[in-house]
This record gives sequence, C-alpha cells and structure tokens, in this order.
Amino acid sequence: MFRNFKMVSRVVFGRGCFNQLDDILAEKRGDSDSFIVFLVDDVFEQSRLAKRIFAKNKDFIIWVNVDDEPKTAYVDDLTQRIKGYAHRLPDGVVGIGGGSSMDLAKAVSLMLTNPGSSADYQGWDLIKNPAVYHVGIPTLSGTGAEVSRTTVLSGPEKKLGINSDHTVFDQIVLDPELIAGAPADQRFYTGMDTYIHCVESLTGTYLNAFSKAYGEKALKLCREVFLEGGVDSDDKLMMASYCGGMSIAYSQVGICHALSYGLSFVLGTHHGIGNCIVFDYLDEYYSEWVDEFRWMMEKHGINLPRNLVAGIEKDQLEKMVDVALVLEPLWENALGAGWRKIMTREKIKDLYQRM
Ligand code: NAD
Ligand code: ZN
Repeated sequence: MFRNFKMVSRVVFGRGCFNQLDDILAEKRGDSDSFIVFLVDDVFEQSRLAKRIFAKNKDFIIWVNVDDEPKTAYVDDLTQRIKGYAHRLPDGVVGIGGGSSMDLAKAVSLMLTNPGSSADYQGWDLIKNPAVYHVGIPTLSGTGAEVSRTTVLSGPEKKLGINSDHTVFDQIVLDPELIAGAPADQRFYTGMDTYIHCVESLTGTYLNAFSKAYGEKALKLCREVFLEGGVDSDDKLMMASYCGGMSIAYSQVGICHALSYGLSFVLGTHHGIGNCIVFDYLDEYYSEWVDEFRWMMEKHGINLPRNLVAGIEKDQLEKMVDVALVLEPLWENALGAGWRKIMTREKIKDLYQRM
C-alpha cells in the first residue's frame, strides 16, 4: 500500500510574510466572542516579535516554556487552560517558536477535540476527531515539524509522536527573518537535524523518488548554508527544513534518530544536540556523511558534550535501549528487514556507552 500523504494545506513564504498573519487569521474568525490561541515560545516574551502578534480582544496568548521538550502532561495542562478560558473552542491555535512550540500547538489543537490525555494518542493514527484549525510559524529551522504529520511528546512510558493526518498544520508561515536571531549553536544543532534527516532518508531502504527529490535538494541547501554561508542562508535553511521534512515524510529516519530518542527520554537531551552527539559515533553506518558533519562542526566552532552516558545507572541504560528499540520502522529503514540480527541490545548498549 502506498502512503496517501496528507500535506500542509497552505504555505506562505518570504521575508516579512509574518505581517500577513492577521489577514490569514481574519478569514477563520467567527463572531465577536470567538478567539484565537497563540502558543508562543517564552523566549520572545519581551521581544519585538511579541509586539507584532496581532492579538484581538478575546484572543489568548500563552507563553510556553520549552526548557524541557514537550511532555504529554504539559499538553494536557495547556489544553485544560484553554478549555477553562472559554466555553467554546477557539477558532484557531497558532504555534510560534522552534520544533517544541510548534509541536505543542499541534498537540493542543488535537486535544481540544479529542477526549482523554495526549498520552493515549502516542502512536500511529489513534486520533479520531479533526483538530482545531492550526498554524505553525517556525523561529528555528531544521526539525521539519512545520510539515510533518507528528507531534513528538514524552509521556509517562515513552517518547513517541501523535502521528495522524489531523496533526498536520492547516497553514504555515515561513518568514526567514524570524530565525535570524537564533543563538548560533542552537541554529547549528537544529540545522543538523535537517542534515541528518537527509542522510537517513537518502541512505535508507525505504527510499523512493519522492523522498530522494526532496532529500537531495535539502542536502544541497544544508551544504550551502553550513559550508558556504551567504546573505540568503536563512531563506535556504528554512527551505532545507521544509524539504528535509518532506523527504522523511515519505520515507523514514534511521539509526541516529532512534538512539537520540533514547538519550532524550532518559537524560532529557534536546533533539538537535542529541542527534549531533549520536551522529558523531555512527561512522560505521554513515561514514562519509559523518566526516562531512565533523567538517561543518569545525567550521562553526561547535564542541559537543562528551561522556554523557558513562556514569548512568544500569537500569537507565536498559531504558535507553528499550526506547530506541521501540522505533522499529527507523531500524528497518536503516538496516533492512533483518535489522534485529544486526542491531542487538548489546550493540546498542556499546554505542551508548561510548557517548
Ligand atoms: P526548540 O523548539 O526546542 O527550541 C530550542 C531553544 O531555542 C529553546 O530554548 C527556544 O526557546 C529557543 N529558540 C527558538 N527560536 C528562537 C529564536 N528565534 N531566537 C532565540 N531562541 C530561540 O528547538 P528545535 O530544535 O526547533 O525543536 C526541537 C523539538 O522539535 C523537540 O521537542 C523535538 O522532539 C521536536 N521535533 C519535532 C519534529 C516533528 O516532526 N514534529 C521533528 C523533529 C523534532
Ligand atoms: Zn529530527
């Protein structure tokens, strides 16, 4: 069966296009009591961007904190706050920030219309009801969260996305000016997420012409951004993230992402830096790409943390392996149908213990 891929319905791209948000939302607004919820990364609370959010009278701005990557409990809490704010659903949920804030917006828009806890929906196609209209506005580029059909959440048991057609944004606003102020190291880590998406898609067994077309373009853009630079780097990085996301949407990620999820679940390591830490130990699987990645790190003066796993408890290491092994499609994409024979628990432990 071929995947009938649900894509973002509307995209606006260009420097300054954030100013069009008001007009875009105007079409969705109902009567005078209706409102829109803005979930905005709290890093922007005192910023110029905050003043540019055209919130109307009844609109609800929530400054979200992403010091920890999104948890199901936080999504449930935000959903309850919005339900308590008005006795009706909002006309829209707008997420402004990096992958974490966009994922919070996706998850909240789903949980406003689906009963129970967001932890109940971690998995594939468990969501029954369509979400509230939702808009994603990236302020960091690389995760591809703006185009993906998932919102990645850590729950009580596992780190796993709510994967569904309803998760996909209805609208995204891609304004390269919004990513200009990101700290250089964070920009690199999140940018490398795209680079690694491309590598894992292009070297995977699930590769097809659709994924290849987007993956190759995104990879070329990553190289231009991180090896050459230039005045239009932010525009290119934003499109690399978009194309990298499109590439994995029709294939899959691989070993680096599987191991990075384990790190993140047990140690709280953030996605971008976690991927970089893991990728640096994957010469055996992605050799020349790892060399190129190291070259990019050197060029950008990046020093990765070391010996993260060395001192952890035995049961924490076992949990890390469990979390990584749950992600079966990632292993199958990377290593083929016989992956279990290649990637044993011992092998995964050995890789983790070197990090
Ligand atoms: P992030 O959203 O976690 O943000 C990282 C840090 O950068 C935060 O401290 C944030 O406040 C800050 N920040 C964001 N934009 C900024 C700006 N313009 N200026 C200054 N600071 C800024 O980082 P990310 O790497 O974009 O996202 C990682 C998250 O995305 C993880 O939670 C991961 O699980 C998720 N993810 C989701 C998908 C998906 O398809 N849904 C894919 C990959 C990763
Ligand atoms: Zn990723």
